[in-house]
Amino acid sequence: MRTDPDPSVNSPLPTEISAAQGLAALRGTYPVFAPGEVWLVGAGPGDPGLLTLDALAGLIQADVIVHDALVDPRVLALAGARARLEFAGKRGGRPSPTQEDISRRLVALARAGERVLRLKGGDPLVFARGAEEAEALAAAGVPYRIIPGVTAGLAALAAARIPATRRGINRAVIFAAGYGADAGGAPDWAALARTGEPIVLYMAMRNLAEIAEALLAGGLPPATPAAVVAAATTTSQRVLVSTLGRVAADAAADGIGAPAIVVIGDIVEVRGELDAAAADGEPSR
Ligand code: SAH
Repeated sequence: MRTDPDPSVNSPLPTEISAAQGLAALRGTYPVFAPGEVWLVGAGPGDPGLLTLDALAGLIQADVIVHDALVDPRVLALAGARARLEFAGKRGGRPSPTQEDISRRLVALARAGERVLRLKGGDPLVFARGAEEAEALAAAGVPYRIIPGVTAGLAALAAARIPATRRGINRAVIFAAGYGADAGGAPDWAALARTGEPIVLYMAMRNLAEIAEALLAGGLPPATPAAVVAAATTTSQRVLVSTLGRVAADAAADGIGAPAIVVIGDIVEVRGELDAAAADGEPSR
């Protein structure tokens, strides 16, 4: 018997209820998006079911939605009919707007009296530069609101049946970003390894071999369980289970790539235990 809920049990809302009425019915009330405000909103990891109700309130009231590449199209599809979409992420090969450009754009749109939704994958304040945007808005005197989102590091683990914490295994978790692993400002990987706590890596696929090497040098055994969860909660979610010593090579051989969360530590073994305990041992996704 599989442990994942059957997605077919979801039924569409009756179409005669507007999105706003549906939201009000669910929540009693919802925050009003005033013209000239910016909302910095987390879109969650992908599945629109993981949006917060306040994020949905922002989507249905916004005049303009400034979004990143990581925001799932199924989330953008929930925008109100009047909303304009502006892409503000990295475009393969072409020059991307700088953080300053984006912050300036948010200020200009708000000053023009728009309801501006700044929509970011996951949580807007986790490896997402939302704090810099909030600082720019505050400095410009633009009213803003921050709405958290389900961060990929937690969503990917849960979606892969890997607990972030498991009593008896760990009571601390490390979140770290793997971009520019060799560059200044990178985490002290050996020091993180020495804590023995599980490590959840964002943006680590490009530098995974180097990061794994540094963690091994810091004393983590090569047999430490590791997993890669790619495109978590989207229709192309994939999970690869490996060990610290092999994860970079296994990921390369498998072709599993960004966006992905890498998790290193004994909590990864819980996935196998849960699957083994399932009644008929059907292989997991
Ligand atoms: N603010 C986001 C993180 C943005 S950094 C958050 O809180 O989740 C971008 C990184 O997030 C990606 O490189 C990847 O490591 C991770 N990520 C985002 N969405 C993901 C998803 N659906 N599945 C796996 N990893 C994801």
